[in-house]
Amino acid sequence: MKPLFHPQLVNEPLGDPALYVEFLFERRALLFDLGDIGALPPRKVLRVTDVFVSHTHMDHFVGFDRLLRLCLGRALTVALWGPAGFIDRVEHKLGAYSWNLVQNYETDFTVLVAEYHADGPAPRSRFRCRSRFAREDLDPTVVTGGLLLSEPGFQVRAAVLDHKIPCLGFAVQETRHVNIWKNRLEAMGLPTGPWLRELKATVLRDEPDDTPVRAWWRDGDRVTERIYPLGELRRELVRIVPGQKLGYVVDVAYQPENSRRIVELVRGADVLYIEATFLEAETPLAAEKAHLTAAQAGQLAREAAVKTLVPFHFSARYPGRETEIRAEAERAFRGSVSQ
Ligand SMILES: [Zn+2]
Ligand SMILES: [Zn+2]
Repeated sequence: MKPLFHPQLVNEPLGDPALYVEFLFERRALLFDLGDIGALPPRKVLRVTDVFVSHTHMDHFVGFDRLLRLCLGRALTVALWGPAGFIDRVEHKLGAYSWNLVQNYETDFTVLVAEYHADGPAPRSRFRCRSRFAREDLDPTVVTGGLLLSEPGFQVRAAVLDHKIPCLGFAVQETRHVNIWKNRLEAMGLPTGPWLRELKATVLRDEPDDTPVRAWWRDGDRVTERIYPLGELRRELVRIVPGQKLGYVVDVAYQPENSRRIVELVRGADVLYIEATFLEAETPLAAEKAHLTAAQAGQLAREAAVKTLVPFHFSARYPGRETEIRAEAERAFRGSVSQ
């Protein structure tokens, strides 16, 4: 299947955390954490619609300025989620600049900010360019089951984790994925093309069987088309499979309640991005700093039965030792840690 999400860590594992998740066929992306995003070209930054910030230690939030700088003067809205206290942090960031001239801008770049504390009301505020980014508190939204964002194609969930401060872990899941049987398409004499994207969207909207679907293609200058009832194409061509799931976990203490919440959040993920800040030899230091070791990261990935483990966010004390850290995480993930 062609995955919907195309995830990419913005930096090397010793650099700041930021996971850029681009959508197939859409000029749209999500960002998990906002560390230094200088390596992301502006056109990619401008595709970001939603940002999920685990916590506001500087290495996870310093990229806010670049996002702001690139979006300012454009007709864009960016939504940010973060842990308790996040709205104040964003307000302080915006409060660092002088905004005496922006009320006359033609566009109204808007930052929407929400905080996830626990299930229940989630505080929300808005900061608009033309209001000089003055904070406007909105009615809280209500979060159930950690569900921060739900759209027809995908959902983003969070869990509150402990890092001596609240720190959010995230999972993004495609709700369902529509596959097309290529051999049956050929048997019907139909070529691939943009019309299949429309067919998939119609299937995901669960439209009725008699909905007309236009299959069309170009033959030189000529456009050929055939109209089918959705029900027939659904029966003949379509297979619905579980969607893709990504997990993102950084900066957490290794303790039972964190582990339980992480495993529940990222269970069965296709890819888990997880911090592996320290080596196992420095487990006491990791505990003191409320971070994971590579072995602990691998163990959590194993318990959650994820398919692929991507350890990252290695401590700056380990330059040149990335292979060793990855190997330690992988051994714990495969279950061959104690011999
Ligand atoms: Zn931290
Ligand atoms: Zn960190």
